[in-house]
Amino acid sequence: MARKSVVSFTSLIELLLILIGISIAAAPIVFANANTLKASYSVENVARPLVKLKRPVVILISSDGFRFGYQFKTPTPNIHRLIRNGTEAETGLIPVFPTLTFPNHYSIVTGLYPAYHGIIANWFTDPNSGETFTKRSQEPHWWLGEPLWQTVVKHGLIAATYFWPGSEVKKGSWNCPPKYCQPFNKKVPFEERVDTVLGYFDLPSDEIPSFMTVYFQDPDSQGHRVGPDHPEITEAVANIDRIIGKLITGLEKRGVFDDVNIIMVGDHGMVGTCDGKFLYLEDLAPWIEIPESWVQSYYPLLAIRPPAGVSPAIVEDFPARLHYSANYRISPIIGLLDEGFMVEQRNLSQRTCAGAHGYDNAYFSMRTIFIGHGPKFAKGRKVPSFENVQIYNMVTSILNIQGASNNGTASFSNFVLLPNR
Ligand SMILES: [Zn+2]
Repeated sequence: MARKSVVSFTSLIELLLILIGISIAAAPIVFANANTLKASYSVENVARPLVKLKRPVVILISSDGFRFGYQFKTPTPNIHRLIRNGTEAETGLIPVFPTLTFPNHYSIVTGLYPAYHGIIANWFTDPNSGETFTKRSQEPHWWLGEPLWQTVVKHGLIAATYFWPGSEVKKGSWNCPPKYCQPFNKKVPFEERVDTVLGYFDLPSDEIPSFMTVYFQDPDSQGHRVGPDHPEITEAVANIDRIIGKLITGLEKRGVFDDVNIIMVGDHGMVGTCDGKFLYLEDLAPWIEIPESWVQSYYPLLAIRPPAGVSPAIVEDFPARLHYSANYRISPIIGLLDEGFMVEQRNLSQRTCAGAHGYDNAYFSMRTIFIGHGPKFAKGRKVPSFENVQIYNMVTSILNIQGASNNGTASFSNFVLLPNR
């Protein structure tokens, strides 16, 4: 394509983004940072001593797509027990952009934004090698950074993963040992996942993992199918609460509930897509033709990679607050969709009315939960919302180990955790 065409392509793209309601401008949001955070008053000022366990243990739980606010949909006595006796992000945990499952889960365990940990979407093509990353890709070259299980094992401690994106990737000190690392299988009942984790506490004390992950794919699976306001979500949330109750009871029976640090999070929220906010790239042909082969993904992340020879120069920078640049894997043209919008190549009259996520993390609907419970978390404390890249440092701080460098704020943990005695 001639240079002149390139220029016109670029301006047309901008026009296109404006015309079709896609915003590449920054939306206002307040992000909490270490300087502005002030935890609410708590009578406790030091971590509680361990009674039965010999060393600190963290169980990191993810309930996929647990939108902030779901905890009020129905009685959730077990989740609320953790909230009441623990520390909560009062207005939710802020996911990283794009608010998708793999980028966020991997940010939680590395403390890195997707541009730095390399998992820039759930699905993408590497423009250099032509290889495609999918949710099943386990080759270590995709997965940058140092996830918590690797950090933990590097320090001579034991880590156990009952599912987590990236946990089966053998990298550095982590070789996904069969005793402590479960290959993903969504059919494994949630009860079995919890029973396995509880079983670790029956091992001799030097075999109890210091760090464990547990992952539940609900209520995300229901959210995609029926949207966030359907009774099926309420049911799924009640079920997650029941599973948390099972974990609590099992830990109590073993006399370790008050010794274990439980961090319960989600990866992102969910928004309804029932408002008919549909855009079809084909309808834009009079202004600009975007061949299907250029489009890496449609929604909620519109990622377009034109072929070699077409070099779009976007005049307006993508908002820096999204930290979504400086990685060659990221497509050169990203359409930041307004909340609830869906984009497709053409109108096939297959409109769905359900739920989606992946949008700008400034939207409140994309927020999820953060609850910390255990000896390092003050009881009944509320902290302002923060981004999930802070969690990595929080875990290494609880375990008293030196973490790898990351995008979290080194001192952040001091605002959320109780100091050691
Ligand atoms: Zn998810």
